[in-house]
Amino acid sequence: MTIQRRSRQRDAVLAAVSQKGQHPTAEDVFARVREELPNVSLGTVYRNLDQLCDAGMIWKIPISDGPSRYEGNPERHLHCICPICGSVRDVWPSDDPINRSALPEDCKDADYRLLLLSVCDGCRDQEKGRA
Ligand SMILES: [Zn+2]
Ligand SMILES: [Zn+2]
Repeated sequence: MTIQRRSRQRDAVLAAVSQKGQHPTAEDVFARVREELPNVSLGTVYRNLDQLCDAGMIWKIPISDGPSRYEGNPERHLHCICPICGSVRDVWPSDDPINRSALPEDCKDADYRLLLLSVCDGCRDQEKGRA
C-alpha cells in the first residue's frame, strides 16, 4: 500500500515534469501533482524530484537568482534563460556546440549541460515599448 502510494506520487511528479517545453519549478510541480493527489506535501514533491534526478530520469536546471527548474525531456538539448524574467526555453542546436578537439583527451566524450543567457522576445518587446 505504502509502496503503491509512493510510486503513484512518483509517477505524478514525473508526468508533471515531463510536459514538453514547460521546465516547471518544484512549486509548479507541487501545484500540478496536488490536482491529482490532494494530500501530497511539498516535501514529498521535492523528495521525488531528487530521486528522479538521481535516477537520471529528469534533470535540474539551476537558475542563479531563482528556484531551480526541472526538465523531463531526455533528448539532448540546451536551455536558454532570460536574465530579466527567468523564463527557460529549449534550444536545439544544429550541431554539437562544443569544440571537442579543444578538450583534453580524457573528457572528449563528456556529457554537458550548457546554459545560454539571452533576453526573451517578451522582455525585448517590453524594453522597446518603454524606449
Ligand atoms: Zn524574459
Ligand atoms: Zn528543455
